[in-house]
Amino acid sequence: MARLVLKFGGTSVGDIERIKNVAKKVKQEVDAGHEVAVVVSAMSGVTNQLVDYCRQISRVHDQAEYDAVVASGEQVTSGLLAIALQEIGIPARSWQGWQIPLIADETHGKSRIERIETTPLSENMSQGVVGVVAGFQGVTEKGRIATLGRGGSDTSAVALAAALGADRCDIYTDVDGVYTTDPRIVKAARKLHRVTYEEMLEMASLGAKVLQTRSVEMAMKHRVRVQVLSTFEEAPGSDLPGTLVVDEDEIVEQELVSGIAYSRDEAKITLVGVADQPGVAARIFGPLTDAAINVDMIVQNVSEDGTTTDMTFTVGKADLDRAVQVLEKSKTELNFRRLISDANVVKVSVIGVGMRSHAGVAQRMFKALADRGINIQVISTSEIKVSVLIAEEYTELALRSLHTAYGLDKA
Ligand code: ASP
Ligand code: MG
Repeated sequence: MARLVLKFGGTSVGDIERIKNVAKKVKQEVDAGHEVAVVVSAMSGVTNQLVDYCRQISRVHDQAEYDAVVASGEQVTSGLLAIALQEIGIPARSWQGWQIPLIADETHGKSRIERIETTPLSENMSQGVVGVVAGFQGVTEKGRIATLGRGGSDTSAVALAAALGADRCDIYTDVDGVYTTDPRIVKAARKLHRVTYEEMLEMASLGAKVLQTRSVEMAMKHRVRVQVLSTFEEAPGSDLPGTLVVDEDEIVEQELVSGIAYSRDEAKITLVGVADQPGVAARIFGPLTDAAINVDMIVQNVSEDGTTTDMTFTVGKADLDRAVQVLEKSKTELNFRRLISDANVVKVSVIGVGMRSHAGVAQRMFKALADRGINIQVISTSEIKVSVLIAEEYTELALRSLHTAYGLDKA
Protein backbone atom coordinates (compact mmCIF):
# COMPACT_ATOMS: atom_id res chain seq x y z
CA MET A 1 0.00 0.00 0.00
CA ALA A 2 1.24 3.42 -0.89
CA ARG A 3 0.18 6.87 0.07
CA LEU A 4 -0.48 8.98 -3.00
CA VAL A 5 -1.35 12.57 -3.71
CA LEU A 6 -3.14 12.99 -7.06
CA LYS A 7 -3.56 16.43 -8.56
CA PHE A 8 -6.02 17.25 -11.32
CA GLY A 9 -5.69 20.47 -13.31
CA GLY A 10 -8.38 22.73 -14.72
CA THR A 11 -9.01 20.88 -17.99
CA SER A 12 -9.19 17.56 -16.12
CA VAL A 13 -12.12 18.88 -14.06
CA GLY A 14 -13.43 21.13 -16.86
CA ASP A 15 -17.02 19.85 -16.78
CA ILE A 16 -19.24 17.40 -14.90
CA GLU A 17 -18.44 14.45 -17.17
CA ARG A 18 -14.75 15.07 -16.65
CA ILE A 19 -15.18 15.27 -12.90
CA LYS A 20 -16.91 11.88 -13.02
CA ASN A 21 -14.01 10.56 -15.06
CA VAL A 22 -11.56 11.87 -12.44
CA ALA A 23 -13.59 10.07 -9.75
CA LYS A 24 -13.06 6.81 -11.68
CA LYS A 25 -9.29 7.39 -11.80
CA VAL A 26 -9.25 8.01 -8.07
CA LYS A 27 -11.30 4.86 -7.52
CA GLN A 28 -8.70 2.79 -9.39
CA GLU A 29 -6.00 3.90 -6.94
CA VAL A 30 -8.24 3.30 -3.95
CA ASP A 31 -9.18 -0.17 -5.26
CA ALA A 32 -5.48 -0.91 -5.67
CA GLY A 33 -5.22 -0.44 -1.91
CA HIS A 34 -3.63 3.01 -1.79
CA GLU A 35 -4.37 5.78 0.62
CA VAL A 36 -5.28 8.79 -1.46
CA ALA A 37 -5.48 12.56 -1.17
CA VAL A 38 -6.62 14.47 -4.24
CA VAL A 39 -5.83 18.10 -4.99
CA VAL A 40 -8.02 19.88 -7.52
CA SER A 41 -7.81 23.07 -9.58
CA ALA A 42 -10.80 25.17 -10.53
CA MET A 43 -12.69 24.17 -13.69
CA SER A 44 -10.77 25.51 -16.69
CA GLY A 45 -11.50 29.14 -17.42
CA VAL A 46 -13.08 29.79 -14.04
CA THR A 47 -10.07 31.42 -12.37
CA ASN A 48 -9.57 33.72 -15.37
CA GLN A 49 -13.19 34.74 -15.15
CA LEU A 50 -12.91 35.47 -11.42
CA VAL A 51 -9.73 37.50 -11.92
CA ASP A 52 -11.52 39.45 -14.60
CA TYR A 53 -14.47 40.21 -12.31
CA CYS A 54 -12.07 41.80 -9.81
CA ARG A 55 -10.44 43.88 -12.54
CA GLN A 56 -13.77 45.06 -13.88
CA ILE A 57 -14.52 46.65 -10.53
CA SER A 58 -11.06 48.02 -9.93
CA ARG A 59 -7.71 47.71 -11.67
CA VAL A 60 -5.95 48.12 -8.34
CA HIS A 61 -8.04 46.09 -5.95
CA ASP A 62 -7.46 44.82 -2.42
CA GLN A 63 -5.42 41.63 -2.85
CA ALA A 64 -6.96 39.93 0.18
CA GLU A 65 -10.41 40.33 -1.35
CA TYR A 66 -9.04 39.17 -4.70
CA ASP A 67 -7.99 35.99 -2.89
CA ALA A 68 -11.44 35.59 -1.37
CA VAL A 69 -12.88 35.72 -4.89
CA VAL A 70 -10.42 33.61 -6.88
CA ALA A 71 -10.09 30.84 -4.28
CA SER A 72 -13.76 30.00 -4.79
CA GLY A 73 -13.16 28.06 -8.03
CA GLU A 74 -11.32 25.32 -6.15
CA GLN A 75 -13.96 25.20 -3.43
CA VAL A 76 -16.52 24.22 -6.08
CA THR A 77 -14.45 21.45 -7.68
CA SER A 78 -13.40 19.93 -4.35
CA GLY A 79 -17.03 19.58 -3.30
CA LEU A 80 -18.12 18.27 -6.68
CA LEU A 81 -15.39 15.63 -6.81
CA ALA A 82 -16.23 14.49 -3.27
CA ILE A 83 -19.85 14.02 -4.37
CA ALA A 84 -18.77 12.20 -7.54
CA LEU A 85 -16.62 9.83 -5.46
CA GLN A 86 -19.42 9.15 -3.00
CA GLU A 87 -21.72 8.36 -5.95
CA ILE A 88 -19.45 5.50 -6.99
CA GLY A 89 -19.13 4.17 -3.48
CA ILE A 90 -15.87 5.79 -2.39
CA PRO A 91 -16.01 7.60 0.96
CA ALA A 92 -14.68 11.12 0.41
CA ARG A 93 -14.82 14.60 1.88
CA SER A 94 -13.64 18.02 0.74
CA TRP A 95 -11.04 20.12 2.55
CA GLN A 96 -10.67 23.85 2.05
CA GLY A 97 -7.30 25.44 2.77
CA TRP A 98 -8.54 26.87 6.07
CA GLN A 99 -9.97 23.54 7.17
CA ILE A 100 -6.72 21.59 6.84
CA PRO A 101 -5.28 24.16 7.74
CA LEU A 102 -2.65 25.02 5.19
CA ILE A 103 -1.02 28.12 6.63
CA ALA A 104 0.22 30.63 4.05
CA ASP A 105 1.89 34.01 4.45
CA GLU A 106 0.27 37.39 3.95
CA THR A 107 1.53 38.22 0.46
CA HIS A 108 -1.96 37.89 -0.94
CA GLY A 109 -2.19 36.89 -4.59
CA LYS A 110 1.17 35.11 -4.52
CA SER A 111 1.30 33.79 -1.01
CA ARG A 112 3.82 31.18 0.10
CA ILE A 113 3.02 28.10 2.13
CA GLU A 114 4.41 28.28 5.67
CA ARG A 115 3.25 24.94 7.03
CA ILE A 116 0.57 22.31 6.71
CA GLU A 117 -1.20 20.77 9.70
CA THR A 118 -1.67 17.22 8.48
CA THR A 119 -3.13 15.46 11.52
CA PRO A 120 -6.89 15.84 10.89
CA LEU A 121 -6.58 15.07 7.16
CA SER A 122 -4.22 12.19 7.74
CA GLU A 123 -6.44 10.61 10.40
CA ASN A 124 -9.43 10.90 8.13
CA MET A 125 -7.51 9.30 5.29
CA SER A 126 -6.41 6.38 7.42
CA GLN A 127 -10.09 5.71 8.11
CA GLY A 128 -10.45 5.11 4.40
CA VAL A 129 -11.84 8.50 3.43
CA VAL A 130 -10.37 10.14 0.33
CA GLY A 131 -9.39 13.71 1.14
CA VAL A 132 -10.34 16.06 -1.69
CA VAL A 133 -8.30 19.20 -1.16
CA ALA A 134 -9.00 22.56 -2.79
CA GLY A 135 -5.71 23.53 -4.43
CA PHE A 136 -4.30 27.03 -4.83
CA GLN A 137 -5.51 28.23 -1.44
CA GLY A 138 -4.51 28.49 2.19
CA VAL A 139 -5.23 30.62 5.21
CA THR A 140 -3.07 33.26 6.87
CA GLU A 141 -2.31 33.40 10.60
CA LYS A 142 -4.85 36.21 10.68
CA GLY A 143 -7.49 33.88 9.32
CA ARG A 144 -7.79 35.34 5.83
CA ILE A 145 -7.89 33.28 2.66
CA ALA A 146 -4.70 33.47 0.61
CA THR A 147 -3.91 32.10 -2.86
CA LEU A 148 -0.57 30.78 -4.08
CA GLY A 149 -0.18 32.50 -7.46
CA ARG A 150 -1.51 31.34 -10.82
CA GLY A 151 -0.93 27.66 -11.39
CA GLY A 152 -0.58 27.29 -7.63
CA SER A 153 -2.42 24.01 -7.18
CA ASP A 154 0.69 22.21 -8.42
CA THR A 155 2.45 23.67 -5.42
CA SER A 156 -0.43 22.75 -3.12
CA ALA A 157 -0.15 19.16 -4.30
CA VAL A 158 3.62 18.85 -3.93
CA ALA A 159 3.58 20.55 -0.54
CA LEU A 160 0.84 18.24 0.64
CA ALA A 161 2.73 15.21 -0.64
CA ALA A 162 5.80 16.36 1.30
CA ALA A 163 3.80 17.01 4.47
CA LEU A 164 1.94 13.70 4.27
CA GLY A 165 5.13 11.80 3.48
CA ALA A 166 3.46 10.51 0.31
CA ASP A 167 5.24 7.96 -1.85
CA ARG A 168 4.46 9.94 -4.98
CA CYS A 169 2.66 13.02 -6.23
CA ASP A 170 0.89 12.40 -9.55
CA ILE A 171 0.11 15.56 -11.48
CA TYR A 172 -2.67 14.77 -13.96
CA THR A 173 -2.90 17.25 -16.79
CA ASP A 174 -3.82 17.55 -20.47
CA VAL A 175 -0.42 16.43 -21.74
CA ASP A 176 0.98 12.97 -21.11
CA GLY A 177 4.34 14.07 -19.76
CA VAL A 178 7.32 16.31 -20.18
CA TYR A 179 8.75 16.40 -23.68
CA THR A 180 12.23 17.05 -25.05
CA THR A 181 10.72 20.20 -26.54
CA ASP A 182 7.30 21.57 -27.44
CA PRO A 183 5.68 18.75 -29.48
CA ARG A 184 3.33 21.25 -31.13
CA ILE A 185 6.36 22.80 -32.81
CA VAL A 186 8.74 19.88 -33.22
CA LYS A 187 7.02 16.74 -34.46
CA ALA A 188 10.04 14.62 -33.53
CA ALA A 189 9.81 15.62 -29.84
CA ARG A 190 9.91 12.67 -27.46
CA LYS A 191 8.38 12.13 -24.06
CA LEU A 192 10.96 11.92 -21.31
CA HIS A 193 10.49 9.00 -18.93
CA ARG A 194 12.58 10.62 -16.28
CA VAL A 195 13.91 14.11 -15.75
CA THR A 196 15.88 15.53 -12.82
CA TYR A 197 14.56 18.21 -10.47
CA GLU A 198 17.22 20.62 -11.66
CA GLU A 199 16.32 20.15 -15.31
CA MET A 200 12.61 20.40 -14.61
CA LEU A 201 13.21 23.59 -12.68
CA GLU A 202 15.03 25.12 -15.64
CA MET A 203 12.38 23.89 -18.06
CA ALA A 204 9.57 25.29 -15.94
CA SER A 205 11.19 28.67 -15.46
CA LEU A 206 12.29 28.84 -19.10
CA GLY A 207 8.84 28.50 -20.50
CA ALA A 208 7.70 24.86 -20.46
CA LYS A 209 4.36 25.43 -18.78
CA VAL A 210 3.68 21.92 -17.47
CA LEU A 211 4.38 22.62 -13.80
CA GLN A 212 4.41 25.77 -11.73
CA THR A 213 8.06 26.63 -11.07
CA ARG A 214 7.50 26.90 -7.35
CA SER A 215 6.14 23.37 -7.20
CA VAL A 216 9.35 22.04 -8.71
CA GLU A 217 11.44 23.97 -6.19
CA MET A 218 9.32 22.46 -3.47
CA ALA A 219 9.66 18.93 -4.88
CA MET A 220 13.43 19.33 -5.14
CA LYS A 221 13.75 20.64 -1.61
CA HIS A 222 11.69 17.87 -0.05
CA ARG A 223 12.67 15.16 -2.55
CA VAL A 224 9.07 14.44 -3.52
CA ARG A 225 8.80 12.04 -6.44
CA VAL A 226 6.53 13.76 -8.93
CA GLN A 227 4.92 12.19 -11.97
CA VAL A 228 3.36 14.27 -14.76
CA LEU A 229 0.73 12.31 -16.71
CA SER A 230 -2.41 12.64 -18.77
CA THR A 231 -5.94 12.47 -17.42
CA PHE A 232 -7.27 11.65 -20.84
CA GLU A 233 -5.07 8.84 -22.08
CA GLU A 234 -4.84 5.40 -20.62
CA ALA A 235 -1.42 3.83 -20.84
CA PRO A 236 -2.28 0.18 -20.41
CA GLY A 237 0.15 -2.05 -18.64
CA SER A 238 2.44 0.75 -17.62
CA ASP A 239 3.24 1.39 -13.99
CA LEU A 240 4.50 4.87 -14.63
CA PRO A 241 2.86 6.12 -17.80
CA GLY A 242 4.03 9.74 -17.52
CA THR A 243 7.28 11.55 -16.82
CA LEU A 244 8.89 11.05 -13.45
CA VAL A 245 10.69 14.01 -11.90
CA VAL A 246 13.37 12.58 -9.67
CA ASP A 247 16.78 12.83 -8.13
CA GLU A 248 19.78 12.70 -10.42
CA ASP A 249 21.03 9.34 -9.20
CA GLU A 250 17.78 7.69 -10.25
CA ILE A 251 18.69 8.35 -13.85
CA VAL A 252 20.99 5.75 -15.26
CA GLU A 253 21.78 6.91 -18.76
CA GLN A 254 22.09 10.67 -18.57
CA GLU A 255 21.73 12.42 -21.90
CA LEU A 256 23.96 15.37 -22.61
CA VAL A 257 20.95 17.56 -23.23
CA SER A 258 17.53 16.52 -21.95
CA GLY A 259 15.37 19.25 -23.31
CA ILE A 260 15.08 22.46 -25.25
CA ALA A 261 12.88 25.20 -23.88
CA TYR A 262 11.89 28.53 -25.32
CA SER A 263 10.27 31.67 -24.06
CA ARG A 264 8.70 34.44 -26.06
CA ASP A 265 8.17 36.44 -22.88
CA GLU A 266 11.35 38.46 -23.09
CA ALA A 267 12.35 41.69 -24.77
CA LYS A 268 15.76 43.17 -25.41
CA ILE A 269 17.08 46.61 -24.50
CA THR A 270 20.41 48.05 -25.61
CA LEU A 271 21.91 51.19 -24.15
CA VAL A 272 24.36 52.53 -26.70
CA GLY A 273 27.41 54.48 -25.56
CA VAL A 274 27.41 54.10 -21.78
CA ALA A 275 30.53 55.07 -19.88
CA ASP A 276 32.99 52.25 -19.22
CA GLN A 277 33.73 53.01 -15.59
CA PRO A 278 32.93 51.67 -12.10
CA GLY A 279 29.37 52.06 -10.90
CA VAL A 280 27.68 52.24 -14.30
CA ALA A 281 25.93 48.86 -14.12
CA ALA A 282 24.73 49.64 -10.61
CA ARG A 283 23.33 52.97 -11.81
CA ILE A 284 21.51 51.35 -14.74
CA PHE A 285 19.95 48.45 -12.89
CA GLY A 286 19.14 50.38 -9.72
CA PRO A 287 16.12 52.22 -11.15
CA LEU A 288 14.88 49.00 -12.79
CA THR A 289 15.06 47.17 -9.48
CA ASP A 290 13.23 50.03 -7.79
CA ALA A 291 10.49 49.65 -10.39
CA ALA A 292 10.34 45.89 -9.63
CA ILE A 293 11.46 45.04 -13.17
CA ASN A 294 13.37 41.78 -13.40
CA VAL A 295 16.39 41.67 -15.65
CA ASP A 296 17.39 38.31 -17.07
CA MET A 297 20.24 38.09 -19.58
CA ILE A 298 22.93 40.78 -19.52
CA VAL A 299 25.89 41.43 -21.80
CA GLN A 300 28.40 44.18 -21.63
CA ASN A 301 31.56 44.31 -23.62
CA VAL A 302 34.84 45.99 -22.74
CA SER A 303 35.24 49.21 -24.64
CA GLU A 304 37.86 49.52 -27.30
CA ASP A 305 39.07 52.93 -26.27
CA GLY A 306 38.38 52.71 -22.55
CA THR A 307 35.63 55.33 -22.64
CA THR A 308 32.25 54.00 -23.76
CA THR A 309 30.60 50.67 -24.47
CA ASP A 310 27.12 49.20 -25.05
CA MET A 311 25.02 47.38 -22.50
CA THR A 312 22.39 44.87 -23.64
CA PHE A 313 19.94 43.05 -21.40
CA THR A 314 16.49 41.47 -21.41
CA VAL A 315 13.37 42.18 -19.37
CA GLY A 316 9.94 40.59 -19.40
CA LYS A 317 7.93 41.63 -22.46
CA ALA A 318 5.19 42.87 -20.17
CA ASP A 319 7.68 45.18 -18.45
CA LEU A 320 9.27 46.56 -21.62
CA ASP A 321 7.37 49.84 -21.85
CA ARG A 322 7.90 50.62 -18.20
CA ALA A 323 11.59 49.72 -18.41
CA VAL A 324 12.10 52.05 -21.38
CA GLN A 325 10.28 54.82 -19.56
CA VAL A 326 12.35 54.41 -16.41
CA LEU A 327 15.62 54.41 -18.37
CA GLU A 328 14.72 57.35 -20.61
CA LYS A 329 13.86 59.33 -17.51
CA SER A 330 17.34 58.82 -16.12
CA LYS A 331 19.03 59.33 -19.50
CA THR A 332 21.14 62.33 -18.45
CA GLU A 333 22.24 60.69 -15.27
CA LEU A 334 23.03 57.36 -16.94
CA ASN A 335 24.64 59.24 -19.78
CA PHE A 336 23.95 56.85 -22.67
CA ARG A 337 23.70 57.97 -26.28
CA ARG A 338 20.74 55.96 -27.45
CA LEU A 339 18.27 53.33 -26.28
CA ILE A 340 17.22 50.56 -28.67
CA SER A 341 14.45 48.17 -27.68
CA ASP A 342 13.29 45.03 -29.45
CA ALA A 343 10.34 42.87 -28.48
CA ASN A 344 10.75 40.62 -31.49
CA VAL A 345 13.00 38.09 -29.76
CA VAL A 346 12.81 34.60 -28.29
CA LYS A 347 15.04 32.95 -25.75
CA VAL A 348 15.97 29.38 -26.62
CA SER A 349 17.69 27.23 -24.02
CA VAL A 350 19.26 23.80 -24.06
CA ILE A 351 19.11 22.09 -20.69
CA GLY A 352 20.82 19.04 -19.27
CA VAL A 353 22.65 18.01 -16.13
CA GLY A 354 24.88 15.98 -18.44
CA MET A 355 26.63 19.15 -19.58
CA ARG A 356 28.26 19.57 -16.17
CA SER A 357 30.74 16.92 -17.11
CA HIS A 358 31.02 17.46 -20.86
CA ALA A 359 32.66 20.10 -22.97
CA GLY A 360 31.36 21.33 -26.30
CA VAL A 361 27.66 21.60 -25.51
CA ALA A 362 27.48 25.34 -26.17
CA GLN A 363 29.62 24.98 -29.26
CA ARG A 364 27.21 22.43 -30.74
CA MET A 365 24.39 24.91 -30.20
CA PHE A 366 26.22 27.80 -31.81
CA LYS A 367 27.19 25.63 -34.78
CA ALA A 368 23.65 24.36 -35.33
CA LEU A 369 22.30 27.91 -35.30
CA ALA A 370 25.10 29.18 -37.52
CA ASP A 371 24.39 26.44 -40.07
CA ARG A 372 20.87 27.82 -40.37
CA GLY A 373 22.07 31.40 -40.62
CA ILE A 374 20.46 32.33 -37.30
CA ASN A 375 22.15 35.24 -35.58
CA ILE A 376 22.72 34.97 -31.84
CA GLN A 377 22.11 38.28 -30.09
CA VAL A 378 22.76 37.46 -26.44
CA ILE A 379 24.14 34.38 -24.70
CA SER A 380 23.90 33.32 -21.10
CA THR A 381 24.90 30.11 -19.39
CA SER A 382 24.57 28.31 -16.10
CA GLU A 383 25.92 24.99 -14.95
CA ILE A 384 23.17 23.03 -16.68
CA LYS A 385 21.88 25.29 -19.44
CA VAL A 386 22.88 27.49 -22.34
CA SER A 387 20.45 30.17 -23.46
CA VAL A 388 20.55 32.33 -26.54
CA LEU A 389 18.41 35.20 -27.64
CA ILE A 390 17.48 35.17 -31.32
CA ALA A 391 14.93 36.85 -33.59
CA GLU A 392 11.47 35.52 -32.90
CA GLU A 393 10.77 34.41 -36.48
CA TYR A 394 13.46 31.73 -36.13
CA THR A 395 11.83 30.00 -33.13
CA GLU A 396 10.64 26.93 -34.99
CA LEU A 397 13.73 26.54 -37.14
CA ALA A 398 16.00 26.87 -34.12
CA LEU A 399 14.05 24.37 -32.04
CA ARG A 400 13.98 21.82 -34.83
CA SER A 401 17.67 22.20 -35.66
CA LEU A 402 18.79 21.99 -32.04
CA HIS A 403 16.57 19.01 -31.39
CA THR A 404 18.31 17.17 -34.21
CA ALA A 405 21.78 18.45 -33.31
CA TYR A 406 21.59 16.99 -29.81
CA GLY A 407 20.26 13.67 -31.04
CA LEU A 408 16.88 14.08 -29.42
CA ASP A 409 14.71 13.24 -32.43
CA LYS A 410 12.41 10.30 -31.96
CA ALA A 411 13.70 7.18 -33.68
N1 ASP B 1 -7.00 27.75 -10.61
C1 ASP B 1 -5.72 28.38 -10.42
C2 ASP B 1 -5.24 28.99 -11.70
O1 ASP B 1 -5.87 28.88 -12.73
C3 ASP B 1 -4.72 27.45 -9.82
C4 ASP B 1 -4.37 26.27 -10.67
O2 ASP B 1 -5.11 25.87 -11.54
O3 ASP B 1 -3.30 25.70 -10.44
O4 ASP B 1 -4.21 29.62 -11.72
MG1 MG C 1 -1.64 24.21 -14.14
